[in-house]
Amino acid sequence: MIKRGESPFFINGLWYHSVLCHWSLLLFSVFKKKSARSAHIFKDVVTQEYHGINDRDLSHGSLRVIEILQHAGYEAYLVGGGIRDLLLGKHPKDFDVATSAKPVEVQKLFRKARIIGRRFQIVHVRMGPEIIEVTTFRGSAENSHLQQANASGMLVRDNVFGSVEDDAVRRDFTMNALYYDPSNHEVLDFVGGYDDLEDGMIRIIGDPETRYREDPVRMLRAVRFVGKLGLQLEPDTAEPIRRLAPLLRDVSPSRLFDEILKLLQAGHGQATFPELVKYDLLRPLFPQTEALLSEADDQHHQHLIDLALLNTDTRLNEGKSVTPAFLYAALHWPQVQHRWEELEAEGHGRTQALTIACSETLDFNQQFIAIPKRFSVTIREIWELQVKLEKRHGRRPDSTLEHPRFRAGYDFLLLRERSGEIPGGLGEWWTQYQIADDAMRRDLIASVKDDQNESKVRRPRRRSKRRD
Ligand code: ATP
Ligand code: MG
Repeated sequence: MIKRGESPFFINGLWYHSVLCHWSLLLFSVFKKKSARSAHIFKDVVTQEYHGINDRDLSHGSLRVIEILQHAGYEAYLVGGGIRDLLLGKHPKDFDVATSAKPVEVQKLFRKARIIGRRFQIVHVRMGPEIIEVTTFRGSAENSHLQQANASGMLVRDNVFGSVEDDAVRRDFTMNALYYDPSNHEVLDFVGGYDDLEDGMIRIIGDPETRYREDPVRMLRAVRFVGKLGLQLEPDTAEPIRRLAPLLRDVSPSRLFDEILKLLQAGHGQATFPELVKYDLLRPLFPQTEALLSEADDQHHQHLIDLALLNTDTRLNEGKSVTPAFLYAALHWPQVQHRWEELEAEGHGRTQALTIACSETLDFNQQFIAIPKRFSVTIREIWELQVKLEKRHGRRPDSTLEHPRFRAGYDFLLLRERSGEIPGGLGEWWTQYQIADDAMRRDLIASVKDDQNESKVRRPRRRSKRRD
């Protein structure tokens, strides 16, 4: 948890180093440190001896960016997930800089700086090997032409600039609105984020419903932090989520693709997925999968997804590469498998039925989450390999083995077996085939009985309940 300093008192985020402090000095300091900077917002200052952040743990590039901005007369701080993670004793993945300098002013100060984004303009500053994200303090100006909301209250354009206090209240959760000033090592807290972090609470800033309506992705971010950080959602922060979950349908499918990766493909997918289910957030994202998971008589779909998430988390934590295609192949598989069975029962051949099921599933889900083509091609290959892997006569196994996605398709088959969707056996056959010499391969092919080829590996058809 949070690193504490050795000092004995903590008053409104401020530790005083010695009990011997004179009372008048104490009162003066409280007054000085906890001063009203605007009508409603108070500033708490957490000193280094209390928060314990060490500059050695900060990125060199972001410190240099702040130094340059401050030297030019602007306010500049480190903010967001980097500071939050350090306070939790975790290793931050990046550090964001927030400043009073406008994007064009930032750009003028750095040789390699690029303004990006339309919804929120940010500047990417290159510092040696690092790219530092610099954002200008955002403000709120009702009715400004620079800030626009649609009919559900969602902000579609938001480039109003403001003070650091304004910026703090525009952020999502209190723990993400802590500002670290490297010049004096102080953490500024305008929204009670420091206390919330100490209590392990994820609390949205402001009125929860309004903030989720402004940007429904905040609901996904809330559950992401539960899974990633192991903290709890404060009850008022959690309350509207189930009710407002359908608003995710208004978010652009390409933004949702990125958010899903941050949710499920960042090393904590297995812990995060149940939170999505718990807060009814799976339905607007993966409607068919959600329906099949909640209606299923047995757990094999759930197991398959769990195993894919575990596999992804493990690989990431071991520093190995992962592809979104494998995870998405598992997340949408319940729908593919369900349609595959239906189409076969309607009289389509097994291969053709799978091809149709794959196309339907990809097309249908594209309206919710836009999977880029380079991944959807691979997803389809992984799925279509499931029927190729069943064909084990003549030269078929050799040509399947040469398929560029053989490994992913074979891994996926093993997952299906382990989940209980299909009986074991085919996976083991392929495990042996891969390491066998020519003679052994011929024996393996000969060992496959005719009725085991192609069509007999699937489970007996389950009765499926249908939604009205
Ligand atoms: P992570 O460690 O996963 O990167 P993060 O909190 O740093 O978590 P970012 O997406 O990098 O997440 O965002 C940086 C900061 O920007 C956040 O900490 C938060 O203060 C602010 N922020 C990001 N997304 C939103 C949002 N949808 N609404 C309001 N503030 C946001
Ligand atoms: Mg971040």
